[in-house]
Amino acid sequence: MRVLITGVAGFLGSHLADRFLRDGHEVVGIDNFLTGRPENIAHLTGHPRFSFLRHNVSEFTYVAGPLDGVLHFASPASPVDYLELPIQTLKVGSLGTHNALGVALAKGARFLLASTSEVYGDPLVHPQPESYWGNVNPIGPRGCYDEAKRFAEAMTMAYHRAQGVDTRIVRIFNTYGPRMRPGDGRVVSNFIVQALRGEALTVYGDGSQTRSFCFVSDEVEGIYRLFHSGETQPVNIGNPDEFTVRQLAELVIAMTGSSSTITSLPLPADDPKVRQPDIARARAVLGWGPTVPLREGLAATIDYFRGLTGSARLQPPT
Ligand code: UDP
Repeated sequence: MRVLITGVAGFLGSHLADRFLRDGHEVVGIDNFLTGRPENIAHLTGHPRFSFLRHNVSEFTYVAGPLDGVLHFASPASPVDYLELPIQTLKVGSLGTHNALGVALAKGARFLLASTSEVYGDPLVHPQPESYWGNVNPIGPRGCYDEAKRFAEAMTMAYHRAQGVDTRIVRIFNTYGPRMRPGDGRVVSNFIVQALRGEALTVYGDGSQTRSFCFVSDEVEGIYRLFHSGETQPVNIGNPDEFTVRQLAELVIAMTGSSSTITSLPLPADDPKVRQPDIARARAVLGWGPTVPLREGLAATIDYFRGLTGSARLQPPT
């Protein structure tokens, strides 16, 4: 197969490219490095089955040659990023999705949308099955991401129904692992970087809010299986093991052997109080479930961030 991955230099996009290449497929990657990083795909430079286009998928997008798949992963994904880049986030979810679907239609390619647990907003149903319509504040600060992804899902289903495009939608829950940006602001990267620097871990609110953390290898395997499946309904891919943010902070401190303390900062607006995927559909349709427990995934992620300790990006500002 020859597949296009938008956002290929991002955390998930780059791991997904590795997964396709590992199975002998050809990957064309697009990224504009807004939040993606060249170092995430540096190891693919010169790979005979990988090519790269520096491009903003929110602009008209042309890719030469045949394609069997289009996987749309381009978007700021950390709350800190999309709060800083609300217009780009709305554009890549709307115009970018439209363009990526247009490429899929023109090439007769299968399309997979990277959607998100944020379509459930601050959920009133727990855990969240795919049948739940969500509780999203459209005009709140997170609305730029949540509504962009909800629009992207609607656009994907419209191309499926009206144009016959073969589509897949994955709803990705909190994922962590190597290649996250140290400064991207998400909780796992923040806590590990803070612990390694000996700084206080910044728990927002009272830390009783929950998240369910999926290691990147599990997440990518689920997405890869969904792409190859016949399932056109949305599928949650995430790890249902649920932790409070405070539990995560304590675990990171223990696992890094850090002398860091925990400090409280205000809870951001509309921060979901709970989140846990119901993965019955993924288990039934894809035969998929997570295999990496939090401690094991955190150990690998801590190793990754430790490897960066010598570099400028992990040094405290002078
Ligand atoms: N969080 C925190 N400290 C941080 C970063 C995040 O307490 O330094 C909290 C945040 O308020 C949220 C949870 O951790 O409740 C997960 O945040 P993240 O930004 O990773 O992603 P989200 O799941 O909110 O999209």
